Amino acid sequence: MRKGTKIIKTIACLAGCTLISSACAPTLTSCARGEEALTFDDHVHIWSEWTTTVAPTCEQVGEETRVCLADGTHIQTREIPPRHEYGKDNACTVCGAALNYTRGLDCKLDESGSYYVVTGMGTCVDKEIVLPYYVDGLPIAAIGEGAFFGADIEDIILPETLRHIKSSAFYRCEKLTSLDIPDDVLNIDDEAFKGCKSVKSVTFGSSLNAIGKSAFADCFAIESAIMPDGVQSIGDYAFNFCTSLGYVKIGRETDYIGQYAFANCYNLSHVRFANGADWTISKNSTMTNSRILSISDTATNARHISSQFCECFWRRNDD
Ligand SMILES: [Zn+2]
Ligand SMILES: [Zn+2]
Repeated sequence: MRKGTKIIKTIACLAGCTLISSACAPTLTSCARGEEALTFDDHVHIWSEWTTTVAPTCEQVGEETRVCLADGTHIQTREIPPRHEYGKDNACTVCGAALNYTRGLDCKLDESGSYYVVTGMGTCVDKEIVLPYYVDGLPIAAIGEGAFFGADIEDIILPETLRHIKSSAFYRCEKLTSLDIPDDVLNIDDEAFKGCKSVKSVTFGSSLNAIGKSAFADCFAIESAIMPDGVQSIGDYAFNFCTSLGYVKIGRETDYIGQYAFANCYNLSHVRFANGADWTISKNSTMTNSRILSISDTATNARHISSQFCECFWRRNDD
């Protein structure tokens, strides 16, 4: 439900912020847009998920906050842009505002005849893409295989109608800086965002069920991966070489983590399992190792998943 524009605004804001105090940590910066950011010299923040404190409406911006798990006094707040409920004509069913979506993209009707798939940039040369919600009255429910492969895009706002992001859909979109996966997306397929090296922030939609192989591999700038409870499987190499990744939260229902899913994540310092699950860790059929992972000892979990047992398959034992 979050929109990419807001994160872009935050980044732009941070760059243009006025320094209020530099005498001691924390350093408070603020800016004309009213957003605030705290920066500390002594640690890398371990941000928890964003929590909506004021829900946006058609006319009003909302607000959300997140807390640093390493120091609960570190809190960030940002605006959520006004939110519309777009109908079949891409106009808001509440206030009537028309969605100003990007023209010229290639789409095709799915074989089922019930939804559209975005298949490529078409004649579009825009750097900031806003996808329509509907084409000819049918929802856009998928981003096709390789649709934006290597595209020169800087921002993309995905429609709430989206269900599926297919293989290599955004492979090496090297200028994208943030990703907001809509709430109803169920699957992110293999290599979907591989090599999106500038993406710092990813928000996973609440319905996400599976993350494919190498889906976020070589995303060198991603700082945290807070996965929703419903994610059942995390594919092999899913976050391989996410070298800025500091914090990972594994959802309650996750029962499979593939080989090398978090390998080469050199800065991974905290991994939180939503339930202190009992896992069987195996490299091959001859080596198995069962262990209960801790909810509280996030540093040990991080060491296990990113280095000591990173080459293993992780399967959750039944509770
Ligand atoms: Zn902090
Ligand atoms: Zn509206």
